[in-house]
Amino acid sequence: MNNPLLTDWDTPFGLPPFAAIKDDDFAPAVDAALAEARANIAAIADDPAKPSFANTIEALELADATLSRVLGAFYALAGADSTPAREALQRDFAPLLSAYSSEISENKALFARVEVLWADRDSLDLTDEQARVLMLTRRSFVRAGAQLENAEATRLRAVKSRLSVLGTQFVQNLLADERDWMMKLGADDLDGLPDFVIATARAAGVEKDAGGPVVTLSRSLIVPFLQFSDRRDLREKAYQAWGARGANGGATDNRAIAAETLALREERAKLLGYDSFAAFKLETEMAGSPAAVRDLLMQVWDPAKAAALDDSKVLERMLHQDGFDGPLEPWDWRYYAEKRRKDLHDLDEAEIKPYLQLDRMIEAAFACANRLFGLAFAPIDGPVYHPDVRLWDVTRNGEHIAVFIGDYFARGSKRSGAWCSAMRSQKRLGGDTRPHVVNVCNFAKPEAGKPALLSYDDARTLFHEFGHALHQMLSDVTYESISGTSVARDFVELPSQLYEHWLEVPAVLSEFATHAETGKKMPDALLERMLGAATYDMGFQTVEYIASALVDLEFHNGPAPADPMQRQAEILENLGMPRAIGMRHATPHFAHVFAGDGYSSGYYSYMWSEVMDADAFAAFDEAGDPFDPITAAKLEKTVLSSGGSVDAAELYTAFRGRMPGVEALLKGRGLAA
Ligand SMILES: [Zn+2]
Repeated sequence: MNNPLLTDWDTPFGLPPFAAIKDDDFAPAVDAALAEARANIAAIADDPAKPSFANTIEALELADATLSRVLGAFYALAGADSTPAREALQRDFAPLLSAYSSEISENKALFARVEVLWADRDSLDLTDEQARVLMLTRRSFVRAGAQLENAEATRLRAVKSRLSVLGTQFVQNLLADERDWMMKLGADDLDGLPDFVIATARAAGVEKDAGGPVVTLSRSLIVPFLQFSDRRDLREKAYQAWGARGANGGATDNRAIAAETLALREERAKLLGYDSFAAFKLETEMAGSPAAVRDLLMQVWDPAKAAALDDSKVLERMLHQDGFDGPLEPWDWRYYAEKRRKDLHDLDEAEIKPYLQLDRMIEAAFACANRLFGLAFAPIDGPVYHPDVRLWDVTRNGEHIAVFIGDYFARGSKRSGAWCSAMRSQKRLGGDTRPHVVNVCNFAKPEAGKPALLSYDDARTLFHEFGHALHQMLSDVTYESISGTSVARDFVELPSQLYEHWLEVPAVLSEFATHAETGKKMPDALLERMLGAATYDMGFQTVEYIASALVDLEFHNGPAPADPMQRQAEILENLGMPRAIGMRHATPHFAHVFAGDGYSSGYYSYMWSEVMDADAFAAFDEAGDPFDPITAAKLEKTVLSSGGSVDAAELYTAFRGRMPGVEALLKGRGLAA
């Protein structure tokens, strides 16, 4: 066997031998690994021995070990150092992998063994973790339709396949509407726009061959245009076009797609025995039920709406002072809010950046993990997939905990955004395995010899992704399927968002935010302004977000609306939506909800996590020390080491003594009464 992906990796810590791996090695390795996994699955299903936890559930956990090793290396490359060849491989692998997973969920003999164990679960003498893995394994079979026979099974397959076609069509229509619209800006139309907006508008004009600057519907251009343009007539025109995406009639209209999607989702949920699609989706989440989601969102809605209405009075006065009559409109909000922000917290990015050096911020993230959890980080040499990638050996009291991999700089071959993934996950079954955890960011790379400098947002991203990394690195479970970040969607952002709070601890910034040239610490006044600006205009941001989250929830809770636009209008009317604020995403362009299943009935989860991270950090405030050792130890024991081995609500309650409350979030967002 000379495919380096399929040999034993005799490298430091067993990292993938990237230098020896060629792109041509991946397809044969995936084929071989899939064949091996299929043989393992068949052996489990056909095993003549009576089903046991070991010969069925544990065997399933181990069945695709080679596949996950190969894919761990492949996806690291495909996300962070892609090429057309690797993109083509990714397209080839997607249907192979989805066919493999459908084969498992449709394997009747395999499911029959799981059902035997489930029926006998009380007499199997399982540990708590084993009982949880059995429950989760069975649940994923049931949710995929394993209990359905004949016509119902056929119908479920047809519904899922139609839903995936509709999701793709929804996105393509949205992209077409965004691509087709532009507004040319003449010399008189640039009033108020700062240089960077004009430059973006010119670049967009070149791309569109428009012979001058244009506004397009790309968020990175239209939002600053609405923020800065002095021309109220143009703001209105741009805003109306932005709001009409997916609802322009004709071939790219998404309204009928939304209605059909909601109806099919309801049918899918009913086939599987659930009352509604929201009940189906929320079963696996910490929130658990539509009522719990609504309750939490409404607790934040009222104070957010009150704050937004207060703000709108101030902004409306500014509008009138500019000589316009009538009420504040949605195309006015960002413009007057920006003017007011300048008065209240003028912040110059250029003034802040020299204090936020990448290497110092990495040190800060490590130092906090050291004080909280006793972790130590030592740089090491080892195989990497790109020369910018850095490796650290993570230890505690001399014992190896993980390899931490940092890949911080933007490059053309990296997809945008920032993320954390485990090339190898922690587990004990089949040999004690410590994780290899990657943080990927897109920070600007400095010229040779100069230090890399971050914006405050960048520094938060660094801490955020490092929080996910801690969730992987501190994982301490037996089974890989529940390791690290394998938790409910509305729980997975808790460790990451919580970790951002340590960046805001003034002692951390005063120690690590030092000037790149002078080495001096950031002046207190600048630090205060920087932290203060983070909560500006939260009434608006919270209202536009919650309106979308509630519409998403109500769409999937109960019978599917025949006319989603009418239902959306009713929901907003009942909420008393302020007239000058639009939904963050209205139905015809709500890709989170209609492009696929990911965030349907799940758009709330951003706020759910934020409520939790604020409430969780308040535990350290209450202890009187952001590094309180007892609270930190409890956080590790309950949340960070447990993965999905225990229900998320139970984990949170074990940490905090109760479920999360909204008070800390309201305080953090400046919305507390
Ligand atoms: Zn995250």
